[in-house]
Amino acid sequence: MEVNYCDVCKKPIENPMPTRSIFRVADIDICEPCKDDLELAIKYTVRGKQPFDYSWYDELSLKILKDGIQKGRINLKR
Ligand SMILES: [Zn+2]
Repeated sequence: MEVNYCDVCKKPIENPMPTRSIFRVADIDICEPCKDDLELAIKYTVRGKQPFDYSWYDELSLKILKDGIQKGRINLKR
């Protein structure tokens, strides 16, 4: 059985299915709960930020993920 590990929470992802149970952002593999947290974290941050622009969106995702890798979880600001 194939097992990958989430780069953020380090949990094993059994039978990883790209775009379904494992997600790749830049070179970082993340599990589904971490991806949900990442999207929430982005949502909180971009609320007041207009207009939408992919360059800062990518930058922001990467920054949140790198923080997450260091802390072992995605930090959800509220
Ligand atoms: Zn994870």
